[in-house]
Amino acid sequence: MEYQHIIIGGGCAGFQLAKTMLELPKESIRSILIIESSKVHAPKSWCFWSTISHPYRHLVEKEWHSLGFKAYQNQKNLPLQHQTYQYIDSTSFISHHLSLFAKDPRLTIVYQTVSGIEETENGCLVQCENGAYHSEYVYNSVPHLQEKPYFKPKVWQHFLGWEITTSENSFDTEKATLMDFDVDKNEDGRFIYILPFTEKRALVECTVFSTQEYALESFECSLRSYLEKKYSNDYTISKIERGTIPMMPKINAEITKRIIPIGTAAGCIKASTGYSFTRNLEHTTKIIGYLQGNNKRPKYAYSRFTFYDKLLLWIIENQQSEIKKIFYLLFKNNSIKNILMFLDERTSIVQDLRIFYFLPKRTFIKALIKSKLVDLAPIKFTKKRYLGSIKTAFTFWQKTEVVSMQKNIID
Ligand SMILES: Cc1cc2nc3c(=O)[nH]c(=O)nc-3n(C[C@H](O)[C@H](O)[C@H](O)COP(=O)(O)OP(=O)(O)OC[C@H]3O[C@@H](n4cnc5c(N)ncnc54)[C@H](O)[C@@H]3O)c2cc1C
Repeated sequence: MEYQHIIIGGGCAGFQLAKTMLELPKESIRSILIIESSKVHAPKSWCFWSTISHPYRHLVEKEWHSLGFKAYQNQKNLPLQHQTYQYIDSTSFISHHLSLFAKDPRLTIVYQTVSGIEETENGCLVQCENGAYHSEYVYNSVPHLQEKPYFKPKVWQHFLGWEITTSENSFDTEKATLMDFDVDKNEDGRFIYILPFTEKRALVECTVFSTQEYALESFECSLRSYLEKKYSNDYTISKIERGTIPMMPKINAEITKRIIPIGTAAGCIKASTGYSFTRNLEHTTKIIGYLQGNNKRPKYAYSRFTFYDKLLLWIIENQQSEIKKIFYLLFKNNSIKNILMFLDERTSIVQDLRIFYFLPKRTFIKALIKSKLVDLAPIKFTKKRYLGSIKTAFTFWQKTEVVSMQKNIID
């Protein structure tokens, strides 16, 4: 069958792209086919920090004006100024798009599993279990269909969340807790994430960044002891959310004139945080620009932020116990505005240096040396320049007060 555009994967990125394409003039978008492998959608709680106006504003079910962080008995409340932390239930997101698509005859959805994509002389061929579809352009959100060698992240974000209801008022509805490291046996840097929907209802998640798989009981155990400590076991569980998010700094999916990776396949999941909702939206804007003829292939380019992400992933892989200290120093020494800007990859180099200045220097230098990351750095390093940079960085950090600050923490 012949279509103008085929989108593989009816998830976050695929639906955002299809919706935006349908908003373009009718003569430029004649037909779109979405191929999705599963009719049953596994619900996700999507959160992101954003200004008030964006295309999914009407789907935001709850927003918080402040974020919480806790480690080493230090609690920080971080009021957000020009942004809020917003929550969208993926089930409402999916049904909103399905009802939009049902009204537009240009869009068709089929439920089939794609096994391969091929660029032909005059378009693309998408191979499915029950036959093939042909189109001018393909947008693919499924990494393993394009990734060579096979998509194989080393680090994953694992989590288990319980939506709980308490009989007493237990939650501050103005504040979402981003990270609370006050969890038993958290040598692996596990932390609790809380989204309070009402004073009596919240999603409480136990999360860990790790190379290894975790048994469900490990998270259940952490959640149970955390809830017992905080809410004296006065709760009932109404929903469960389990997830693993690949944390990859760079996806090698090939981008051609006609086959364009999107979402996870395009590297839209930020490697050091696991967030992608707003990055998928930004990427959609780039794709639309490309379709409108700006000739800039919509790619998540390698940048110094990819390099920083790689450093953190190396630390997770090799010095997992440092994670808690790194986040503690990050939140202790920087304003929330700067932290969010840094995670959004919008800080200047000077701001980045300020952020790294307060992080554990030995850990990062070790990561820099051991991981041979210089090969992937945005600046090409010669051996001499590499050693010189390490020496300069070391001297710079030596002079700081970080050493005494770290001692305080460890004490
Ligand atoms: C539980 C959970 C919670 C998350 N929470 C957040 C959050 O709070 N904030 C945030 O920014 N990010 C979050 N993420 C990360 C990220 O935003 C999501 O994973 C997001 O869904 C990624 O979008 P995507 O379109 O790339 O993938 P998906 O939304 O997973 O869409 C891919 C689609 O492709 C389909 N598919 C797979 N294989 C095939 C095939 N062979 N043929 C056809 N279809 C196929 C799948 O069924 C799926 O529907 C979360 C992830 C998880 C797992």
